[in-house]
Amino acid sequence: MDTLAYQPENCWTHYTSSQERVAMDGTAQEYLDFLSQCKTERETIAWLVDQAQQVGFSENLSADQVMISWRSKALVLVRRGRAPLSQGLRLITAHADTPHLDLKQHPLHEECQVALLKTHYYGGIKKYQWLARPLAVHGVVVRKDGQVVPVCVGEAESDPVFTVLDLLPHLSRKQREEVVDKAFVGEKLNVAVGHEPLDAEGQDRIQALVLKLLHSAYGIQEEDLFSAELQVVPAGKARFVGLDRSLLGGYGQDDRLCVFAAWRAFMNAPISEHAQVLVVWDKEEIGSDGATGAKSRFMEYALADLVDHWEPTSKLRHVLQRTKAISADVHAPMDPDYQDVHDKHNAALLGFGPVFSKFTGHGGKYGASEADAEYVAWFRNILAGENIPWQMAEMGKVDEGGGGTVAKDLAVYGMEIIDFGPGVLSMHSPFEISSKADLYATIKAYGAFFCS
Ligand code: MN
Ligand code: MN
Repeated sequence: MDTLAYQPENCWTHYTSSQERVAMDGTAQEYLDFLSQCKTERETIAWLVDQAQQVGFSENLSADQVMISWRSKALVLVRRGRAPLSQGLRLITAHADTPHLDLKQHPLHEECQVALLKTHYYGGIKKYQWLARPLAVHGVVVRKDGQVVPVCVGEAESDPVFTVLDLLPHLSRKQREEVVDKAFVGEKLNVAVGHEPLDAEGQDRIQALVLKLLHSAYGIQEEDLFSAELQVVPAGKARFVGLDRSLLGGYGQDDRLCVFAAWRAFMNAPISEHAQVLVVWDKEEIGSDGATGAKSRFMEYALADLVDHWEPTSKLRHVLQRTKAISADVHAPMDPDYQDVHDKHNAALLGFGPVFSKFTGHGGKYGASEADAEYVAWFRNILAGENIPWQMAEMGKVDEGGGGTVAKDLAVYGMEIIDFGPGVLSMHSPFEISSKADLYATIKAYGAFFCS
């Protein structure tokens, strides 16, 4: 009877050969380098475009390997399959945006001999996690003449960093009595950027020196900050965590963990029956709205252009309706210190492979995209055929909260889509944690899907 009961499989005891462990370590190091280098959606898309170009992807829609990017923030990569497009795609989608602090439009001011940059946070953050830690600024400033000036300060050893100041415990009596949401307010997330006055002491002389330094480094003036996208992110590199180096720590793993896993799987995949598609979105963390989010028409238009070039007699709607897709986004596995927010019978564990969420949403499945039982069955068969560990879970207890992904925005086309991605602990924090073994299994799972 024992074989009738379901047992999830631990990736660490599944992948034991030295060959596999060497591959696992190499992949993890590559992933950490990617995470250290790509801290914004623009940097991630630029990295992907560069990598794709190196292996022959181009914007030539008549070629077999096509790359279509949008506003430097979203991307579609397509590899032609043996079957016509009208038989559907094998599509994996992930998002490249991550929670951070955006500079306000009028960011620069000074108070009490410190020049500060005002911010408006982006995405779901716990504000206190952004205080009293080294921060970097990444992004672009676009000058009136249209020139795009890239900015990245705080990553090189010789760079200065920035920081949001925190209140000393000695004077925090009132703050300690507040609920967390009230104790840390968005308007206090100001980034220290200078202290020395220009020339002599006086009104606004500290911010004057900051402006002078910005001008000499980037040729910009204060008005140029109106046409800038500057993001404050945690400074420093992604690292191995733990004496056994089994955990991967770094900023932005939701969802660059899936971007990387899907990209690696896509690049490793041979030409297969169905056309393989990788779609990377922006704005998922704030509801997928706008021109570069999953609710936009970008993917639809890109695929329509492709159908026009490759198969003008086929209908895009049929291509989409016959598509099988993965919403590759990270999952919240059991947190060892906060197990009470999970239903342990339906929670994922770090190290047990990528996690299916048959549905997302919250409270009564509100706002959910739900995969059909038929699709889950099809997928189980694919993974069983390749002997890849995976798990099935629901994020958190019923009524504890919840969340959505881009799955629902793609499900509207009638494609079969399911959320499937590795677990991340400390999600949305400046230092998210994933499992080296899960990354390895996830790449294998996505690869099996692309070749299905
Ligand atoms: Mn996500
Ligand atoms: Mn998220």
